[in-house]
Amino acid sequence: MSAKEVTKSVYELVLKRNPGENEFHQAVKEVLDSLAPVLEECPEYADAKILERVVEPERVIMFRVPWLDDKGVPQINRGFRVEFNSALGPYKGGLRFHPSVYLGIIKFLGFEQIFKNSLTGLMMGGGKGGTDFDPKGKSDNEVMKFCQSFMTELCKHIGPDTDVPAGDIGVGGREIGFMFGQYKRIRNEFTGVLTGKGLNWGGSLVRTEATGYGLVYIVEELLKAQGGDFKGKTVVVSGSGNVAIYATEKIQQLGGKVVAVSDSNGFIYDPEGIKLDTVKQIKEVERKRIKEYVSIHKSAKYTEGCLGIWGIKCDIALPCATQNELDVEGAKLLVKNGCKIVGEGANMPTTPDAAELLIEKNVAFLPGKAANAGGVAVSGLEMAQNSQRISWSFEKADAELKNIMVNIFKDINDAAEKYGSKGNYIVGANIAGFIKIADAMLDQGLV
Ligand code: NDP
Repeated sequence: MSAKEVTKSVYELVLKRNPGENEFHQAVKEVLDSLAPVLEECPEYADAKILERVVEPERVIMFRVPWLDDKGVPQINRGFRVEFNSALGPYKGGLRFHPSVYLGIIKFLGFEQIFKNSLTGLMMGGGKGGTDFDPKGKSDNEVMKFCQSFMTELCKHIGPDTDVPAGDIGVGGREIGFMFGQYKRIRNEFTGVLTGKGLNWGGSLVRTEATGYGLVYIVEELLKAQGGDFKGKTVVVSGSGNVAIYATEKIQQLGGKVVAVSDSNGFIYDPEGIKLDTVKQIKEVERKRIKEYVSIHKSAKYTEGCLGIWGIKCDIALPCATQNELDVEGAKLLVKNGCKIVGEGANMPTTPDAAELLIEKNVAFLPGKAANAGGVAVSGLEMAQNSQRISWSFEKADAELKNIMVNIFKDINDAAEKYGSKGNYIVGANIAGFIKIADAMLDQGLV
């Protein structure tokens, strides 16, 4: 079989074995489509069935999560942990709490995570977990009860040298705290079993900022390679959660102007530049809707619906909310308005046809598995600090993060060029991430 036939047959196998898991199919296809030149160069990967193995999780755990709401009514949710690949280290990846969560979403995220973690250069395998529980509108007490029940089952499967979960959509410091407390109570051990912990009980400085800052550092590297920087650039950022807020903060520090952010209801456009303190107050402190912003800043306009944000004129667009939020219509608007760079802060926020169009129109496109790797990178650094029982300064952690993002840009840029797709960072990221995993799997035998 030719290399292309091998990738096609593996994709067909994935479709057959994982019916209805559309997001997982999409993530697998994107990676497989990049790998033919690598298989041509290294036929031993195909001989050892590395592709067939890499698309099959090492372990999938699904469990019932029963909890009592504030009215004393029993509620039942579903929990997941997909331990996808441990060739490079303990499984590592976040937990997502969102009503849209089902097995296909967790598998797509876990699969992406394998390659992302590989790109960081740290010793981390790939995994992901979550639940269809919706923390929105729940009291602190309900969130705590849910987290305790979730961890009562999850704690049987994780550990600081086995599987180290972190946050994702719907899981921030509050949820990590409740889950850590329950883990410690059941297992009677204080270890670095979760990352994103509070700063006075084992967390790392810069973890909160890491994904957003890392995204901006890698875009800055790209700008540098093009002979430019952020000064005077207009930027559109979608979302107003952890990634969006800290991407905005770093862009503003570097002299760029963010003119729009959004949430799942709509977006705000402030031509004078987003006032980040207001966004933090609304989203981080009050947990309210982004439209509150316009009642405080009269220069801003609120529009219902999320897709319209891509019609705002900008030099750089950073989708930082959720999967498939930037479609081909949005991509066309970005191109028409002269956008030159798209960097994915979220996981797979761009649909495949939108990404294809952007690349075809010479928009530099940085895929999430490279561009948002800063979060898991600092999680890896948190694990290292926990093992040594020390805490680094903000400056040290930030410098390490920056260094990792600079290296990722170099690696994906070099891999794209070496394998005949210069400037295509999707291909570069998939290949650079894959080779390290495939080599480790070859070394470790048929497992
Ligand atoms: P948060 O829960 O903090 O924020 C998510 C934001 O996206 C919220 O503003 C939310 O709005 C908005 N949102 C959700 N769905 C939609 C939608 N359909 N359209 C528009 N906006 C939407 O999550 P994070 O910031 O942590 O994560 C964002 C993305 O980044 C995810 O894809 C995540 O997997 C990825 N990521 C996160 C990392 C991290 O360290 N946090 C690391 C790597 C990737 P609302 O307030 O209305 O819910």
